[in-house]
Amino acid sequence: LPALLKDATLLESRAYVNGSFIESAKTFEVTNPARGDVIANVTDLSRADVGKAIDAAFEAQKDWASWTGKERANVMRKWFDLIMENQDDLGTIMTAEQGKPLAEAKGEVAYGASFIEFNAEEAKRVYGETIPGHARDKRIMVLKQPVGVAASITPWNFPIAMITRKAAPALAAGCTFVARPAAETPLSALALAVLAERAGIPAGVFNVTPSSSASEVGKEFCENEKVRKITFTGSTEVGRILLRQAADQVKKCSMELGGNAPFIVFDDADIDEAVEGCIASKFRNNGQTCVCANRIYVQSAVYDEFAEKLKARVKDMKVGDGLSDEAPDMGPLISSDALEKVQAHIRDAQSKGAKVIWGSQNDEMEGNFFGPTIVTGATQDMAFATEETFGPLAPLFSFENEDDVIAMANDTIFGLASYFYAKDMSRVWKVAEALEYGIVGVNTGLISTEVAPFGGVKQSGLGREGSHHGIEEFLEMKYVCLSL
Ligand code: ADP
Repeated sequence: LPALLKDATLLESRAYVNGSFIESAKTFEVTNPARGDVIANVTDLSRADVGKAIDAAFEAQKDWASWTGKERANVMRKWFDLIMENQDDLGTIMTAEQGKPLAEAKGEVAYGASFIEFNAEEAKRVYGETIPGHARDKRIMVLKQPVGVAASITPWNFPIAMITRKAAPALAAGCTFVARPAAETPLSALALAVLAERAGIPAGVFNVTPSSSASEVGKEFCENEKVRKITFTGSTEVGRILLRQAADQVKKCSMELGGNAPFIVFDDADIDEAVEGCIASKFRNNGQTCVCANRIYVQSAVYDEFAEKLKARVKDMKVGDGLSDEAPDMGPLISSDALEKVQAHIRDAQSKGAKVIWGSQNDEMEGNFFGPTIVTGATQDMAFATEETFGPLAPLFSFENEDDVIAMANDTIFGLASYFYAKDMSRVWKVAEALEYGIVGVNTGLISTEVAPFGGVKQSGLGREGSHHGIEEFLEMKYVCLSL
């Protein structure tokens, strides 16, 4: 891997605490999911080590908060610039540990960096408020102040963006940050730390604490009184654990949890565009995103046409090693467990009468590779109707009318992203309002951008990331009442 990089010093395997790269007695292995080889042995911090990182963040916070918004913005802008200057190397590191094709990895680097750029600008605009007093001699002001030390736990599917979505608004607000990256993908996070240091972000402000024991780190974050904010992306199951643990100290929490995104194609849709949107939403990151279409509902009159066109389109999609010259459309799945889940969902659907019209089971690929698979005849009693597959399986459900499909789409504990394709204006409004989701993509399969508020309703989470709303998650309101 170092030989593939222009700047091999970006490949850092030590933890980043209080402005220094540190080692500990233990390490854990990071493997390349495409090739199975070990690419790094990363410092494995204990719970006590993480406690020290929290101490450093706590010590650094007051000074960082005293910087003007513009001063914080300037170093954050530098960080953004350095990330973009090193986009190729960061992409290579990400593909090596995560598996996504290099072009997609570089795309994530830019997407991840955009949160730093956007929030650097927002740092200057943390406006308070004045409110007319409730008595002739009273004046009321509202101050916005940083929450304090924020700590994150993030998954492996977006090794950079999941961290910058949290760290950038935190730093902009004047919080300091401790990031525990997923154990599968710590190298991207540590490369971010190398560049944060070069950008001049002060010691203790941004810390990266790799650890093979997520649950121990999670407990430290929740039980250490110096941490005032927990920000998590991952499964609803782990989100519940963290919320329970955080309850003891009533910590502020943001949770980006699981989804089970419906993708609805109405009979007035442009079918070719719907197919393209479906490909983009379903197969990005090999289906391993929390906003990937999981249930595809197609109105009966256009069902066969959509199925045929989708099949024709996926036939040409290549699956392979993301770092190879053939530039595949999709990389491997992250692990053998992930592969097993996709296969289990296919078997479950087949046993209940669904048909695989295009699929990867017959392919002769080794390792965790699995290509796009389409299933027709999907019904609400199949596993993927209630559970996220998190893989390249596209189940096609048939429906007759608007009310039915809205009921089916909303029949889930989740409420993150949803998508639909339609042209009729009143239908567009009605369906957009009726879907119980935090995000609705209308005639588009791609909804992620730093300028919009991303987040879920129901058991998909609490809080929003991105847009001017994102920084509010790291600010407290203080109301000052002045008597003249
Ligand atoms: P995913 O399927 O995306 O890995 P998880 O919710 O299992 O979703 O994991 C998301 C992140 O949460 C990972 O970094 C994982 O290591 C971490 N994690 C798992 N269990 C716990 C826990 N009990 N406490 C804190 N973090 C956890």
